[in-house]
Amino acid sequence: MSREILINSAYILASILFVLGLKMLGRQATARRGNLISGIGMLIAIVVTLLDHHVVNYTWILVGLGAGTVIGLACAYLVKMTAMPEMVALLNGFGGLASLIVGAAEFFRIRGGTVVPENPTFTATVTYLTILIGGITFTGSVYAFCKLAEWLSGRAITFGGQHIVNGLMLVATLVAGVVYVVSGDPQTVLLAFAVYTLLALVLGWTLVMPIGGGDMPVVISMLNSLSGVAACAAGFIISNNVLVVAGCLVGTSGVILTAIMCKAMNRSLANVLFSGFGSAPAKAAAGGEGAIQGELKPISAEDTFAVLEAARQVVIIPGYGMAVSQAQHVVRELAEMLEKNGAEVRFAIHPVAGRMPGHMNVLLAEANVPYEQLVEMDAVNPVMPTMDVAIVIGANDVVNPAAARDKSSPIYGMPIINAHEARTVICLKRGKGTGFSGLENQLFLLPNTRMLYGDAKASLQGVVSEFKSLAA
Ligand code: NAP
Repeated sequence: MSREILINSAYILASILFVLGLKMLGRQATARRGNLISGIGMLIAIVVTLLDHHVVNYTWILVGLGAGTVIGLACAYLVKMTAMPEMVALLNGFGGLASLIVGAAEFFRIRGGTVVPENPTFTATVTYLTILIGGITFTGSVYAFCKLAEWLSGRAITFGGQHIVNGLMLVATLVAGVVYVVSGDPQTVLLAFAVYTLLALVLGWTLVMPIGGGDMPVVISMLNSLSGVAACAAGFIISNNVLVVAGCLVGTSGVILTAIMCKAMNRSLANVLFSGFGSAPAKAAAGGEGAIQGELKPISAEDTFAVLEAARQVVIIPGYGMAVSQAQHVVRELAEMLEKNGAEVRFAIHPVAGRMPGHMNVLLAEANVPYEQLVEMDAVNPVMPTMDVAIVIGANDVVNPAAARDKSSPIYGMPIINAHEARTVICLKRGKGTGFSGLENQLFLLPNTRMLYGDAKASLQGVVSEFKSLAA
């Protein structure tokens, strides 16, 4: 069997493993195996690529492999679960940068006469696309990282004519691209290359600038998709089939996730990208149409226990605060005690609760909460009025009734978990802190709401000890 056939057969096997792995990632029960299977696919792809006769020097590959392994291991051990979105943003950014470097390297190889492309127009076009998309992905992801890590303000930064400036830059990039592809003059080609590379890097930054921190998950998922498209284009440059396939898979899965997240917030992608959501200061609780007046009513762990002891239908709604306090294990303990006490317990999961897609699912799975107890927003909302108690653990934006009632609220129209419809609502949070959107939450002021103040884990431990002392 020729080396070419062997390599391409292995690439097909790797691609099949990617697809199988992705499919298995869709269900919690098979997700770990799916991750492993995709990883094996990637290992096969890398090892087989190294057999390619185009590889003339392994030194830099080994240096890259060593550096990547060390950085990857350090990240796996050191990066906290709550910092995963930033991490993903950086990984997307590096993916974009890698593609950009491949494109630039090919440009200089051709310019230096090291290689002569078989189809110069095609090679120039994919090189341009790789650098354009890779550049935008790189700086856009770095900016998203800085916003999420709070190195830069999370607020949307807007100014008059911003979209026109961005539009003009985009047009200039396209013109430079056309000149790059059609021009035969080496100096003009070099100039066009420099112009569109620079503009792509600037555009990544300026396109993310008017998007608020609350929308960063959507942006990151979109940048993830772009990093896949850039990798796919880079695959065409170096004629590597598995890179084309892997790039397409990343590109399409990123688009699907972006669409799911936009749907969860009841907003279009255009609204997320161009509306400047999050540039205005947060509104006060009392303002706006449909606003509810009221006062915050604290409750103690003992009284919370008394309410829960009598409850038969309980829904637990976790949010970012549960992740911060790492309360998932004590939440599971409380759920078990409620069940022993005769209550039916559900966990209501909002698609954008926490700080990354699936954040709550991951934490609850870590604490061995049975997957069957997890209910999605659409399934739990119709039965919410039948719930005796809704326990809101460090969730805020995803249970903010302003999204349903207050037409003037920036989050009006975003689907929420209707915690306010439960007979009693117990909200666990440390104080008067707002959620990610910076908006006040009228749920906390409703007559049927009680506030259990303190770190969520400590508060829940207090309630659990009450249950334990009852059992003793
Ligand atoms: P949230 O609106 O950010 O609210 C979290 C609440 O937790 C805060 O009000 C805070 O109040 C409380 N809290 C923080 N630490 C706590 C602790 N140790 N113990 C108890 N409470 C604590 O959270 P969410 O309801 O989950 O909503 C998620 C938000 O993040 C949405 O706006 C979403 O768009 C955005 N987002 C989502 C993702 C994603 O992919 N899921 C990614 C990035 C951003 P106190 O300060 O008073 O304690």
